[in-house]
Amino acid sequence: MTRPAHGGDFVRADSIGADLFPGLAFSGNPLDRVSEKRDDEAFVAALAAREDARTVLIARDAPTLRQTDGAPSPYFALAEPASIGRVTETALLGVRATGAPVFAAALADEAVAALGEKEATVSYDTRQLAIAGRPDLALRDMRSLAVDGLLDGGDVAILAEAKALLGWHARHRFCSCCGAPTRVAAAGWRRECAACRAQHFPRTDPVVIMLVVDGERCLLGRQSRFPRGMYSALAGFVEAGETIEEAVRREIREEAGVRCGSVRYLASQPWPFPTTLMIGCIARAATTELTIDRAELEDARWFARDEVIAMRERRHPDAMTTPHPVAIAHHLIAAWIDGRATI
Ligand SMILES: [Zn+2]
Repeated sequence: MTRPAHGGDFVRADSIGADLFPGLAFSGNPLDRVSEKRDDEAFVAALAAREDARTVLIARDAPTLRQTDGAPSPYFALAEPASIGRVTETALLGVRATGAPVFAAALADEAVAALGEKEATVSYDTRQLAIAGRPDLALRDMRSLAVDGLLDGGDVAILAEAKALLGWHARHRFCSCCGAPTRVAAAGWRRECAACRAQHFPRTDPVVIMLVVDGERCLLGRQSRFPRGMYSALAGFVEAGETIEEAVRREIREEAGVRCGSVRYLASQPWPFPTTLMIGCIARAATTELTIDRAELEDARWFARDEVIAMRERRHPDAMTTPHPVAIAHHLIAAWIDGRATI
């Protein structure tokens, strides 16, 4: 295989990202995905037969944790999910350095009881879910797992892979070409239609999130669903036939009326809500007058660097804040504040 002529750029961007945002939530998945062997049924069966094979369990879109002697664990023996409820899909997530495989299983909705909702917050899944007769099992929302530090970051990344993949299966049970039911193939990484022979692959939806800077100030905005006082980098889906740079410029122009010049990619983050890839960029403003799209944003404004520092440190006089470190926006803003991200 020949390397792309501009392969050096990819290497450089990757190393910058790793240096800029160490420990980014949902990143750092330790598994070898063995993607080239997923169609080898004997290989996958041999993995499943290993004594050290484990599975994570996703139920109603939430990771399931079991209480062990010490800490909660997201890992189960492969046969265990079937004893808890009806398993709808399974997939091979990958293999550890020790050779131990990690699978994912999805539990049918009826196995899980919704006990109600906690007091509503905008940032978290507020459902209170439980599995009848299994007080040793806890269903936790993905964001709080990333925030509370209960699990190792690598385990959170594995759960993010499982949640995104199994969520895709749950929403793609029928062929988008002909409407017939589809079946799972490639150890959970493909769906096939027997009626029209179409193949369907798990999708990842790219979203650009960008800090627009104008010298010593940056552009931040807020949606009405954000926690009170929180301002963040603007974001939006990359559209068909669009580059990352074009998506950045379009979103900023549409939402804030600002035209951008240079755009630089910094780092990305898997964001399993449901299957997004956040692509973090910094962009240089070419114009500064704001025309805010009020359908998208409650507010947007230019903030001086000192003001953003106060927001990050939760000492802004108007109680304005920047996002939690679980979000790549926090790291984009921090990198600009600290002079690690320039454009
Ligand atoms: Zn079909």
